[in-house]
Amino acid sequence: MTPDFLHALFPMALIMQAVSRERFIEIPEPVLEVYRQWRPSPLYRARRLEKALDTPARIYYKYEGVSPVGSHKPNTAVAQVYYAKEEGIRKFTTETGAGQWGSALAMACNFFGMACQVFMVRVSYQQKPFRRSIMKLFGADVVASPSNLTDYGQSLLAENPDHPGSLGIAISEAVEAAVKDPEAMYSLGSVVDFVLLHQTIIGEEALRQFEKADDYPDVVIGCAGGGSNFAGTSFPFMRGRLTEGKPTRFIAAEPMACPSMTKGLYAFDYGDSAATAPIIKMDTLGHKFVPPGIHAGGLRYHGMAALVSLLHRAGHIEARAYHQVPVFDAAVTFARAEGITVAPETAHAVRAVIDEAIAAREAGEARVILFNLSGHGFFDLAAYDRYFAGELEDYEYPQEAVEAALASLPEVTLGN
Ligand SMILES: *Cc1c(COP(=O)(O)O)cnc(C)c1O
Repeated sequence: MTPDFLHALFPMALIMQAVSRERFIEIPEPVLEVYRQWRPSPLYRARRLEKALDTPARIYYKYEGVSPVGSHKPNTAVAQVYYAKEEGIRKFTTETGAGQWGSALAMACNFFGMACQVFMVRVSYQQKPFRRSIMKLFGADVVASPSNLTDYGQSLLAENPDHPGSLGIAISEAVEAAVKDPEAMYSLGSVVDFVLLHQTIIGEEALRQFEKADDYPDVVIGCAGGGSNFAGTSFPFMRGRLTEGKPTRFIAAEPMACPSMTKGLYAFDYGDSAATAPIIKMDTLGHKFVPPGIHAGGLRYHGMAALVSLLHRAGHIEARAYHQVPVFDAAVTFARAEGITVAPETAHAVRAVIDEAIAAREAGEARVILFNLSGHGFFDLAAYDRYFAGELEDYEYPQEAVEAALASLPEVTLGN
């Protein structure tokens, strides 16, 4: 695959970043100018959580919830819009699940004067009206997916007028809309290499903050949907492991209901449900996989970023899958200790952190733990209410369903 091929979808500057062999890429000044609204994000020591757990571990968290829309996602949204604008692109199309990505891109498009069309997974469109409001506030056009605006959406609605949608379907629609409009390109909020690159600002800042604190993590933890906040936090520390022999461990936390790393296959697969996006070698549950409607909407993607998958398969990343209830148990413990309500996605990382801190206590070890607090949960309080009402179900995707979805993997012949 050549850069030209990908240019049908993405701005050239971003493709060139994806294929770049440079170790570092400078952040352009107009992007830095927007970042300064909330960056550097703080690195906190979770002293009250340490006390609550009675652990000798030192727990740190990087707080990405301080961004204007409450998550790490604007780190890449702002960069993508800047480069697209430079190339004369007038409009971005994209998909969003819970609305986190859509609101980040809508804000960035608003800052740089670009149009934005967001295909929002229908169940979220109905259940999360307030994120929709934020996207509209920033001037974006928000459409429930599947929609009547694309051929693929029309075909799905013909089969089932109440189709709940999925992230893979919304991606297919956004791609189709971009390909059909000569002034538009497509923006993706996770998974692809340049998104991971933009997110490394999290880990690069954390490295410097640890220097100031005269400390260094033994374990780096993040939740993983498409892998961008996890990669962004961990890759700068992975550099220490791969090039300086530092013994840092890395843990990616995912839901039992969408276990791409712990139950998926490492194989070539499509990034979207309609099989129109390029194929990527990754940990995948199959592009036809439609995960159950768990509350961590941002973790319902069928695949995992290629670079995260590769490091996972090479043994540098440990993957752990968790059920919803223990995940919310952890979020509540964290909120009561630290005062921050974390997003349900982030709560998966918090579960892994608490388990590590307890293991450190049992081993009598002063383990240093860093995790990325990828976003706050102020738009997810309905999920917390359901947890307190005892209505959350632990859902483990059945092995047969995983196998059925994996049967649809594309056949690949490797040329030279
Ligand atoms: C989108 C999102 C995620 C998952 O996406 P990644 O690309 O895996 O980072 C995690 N946390 C929050 C708060 C999100 O909005």
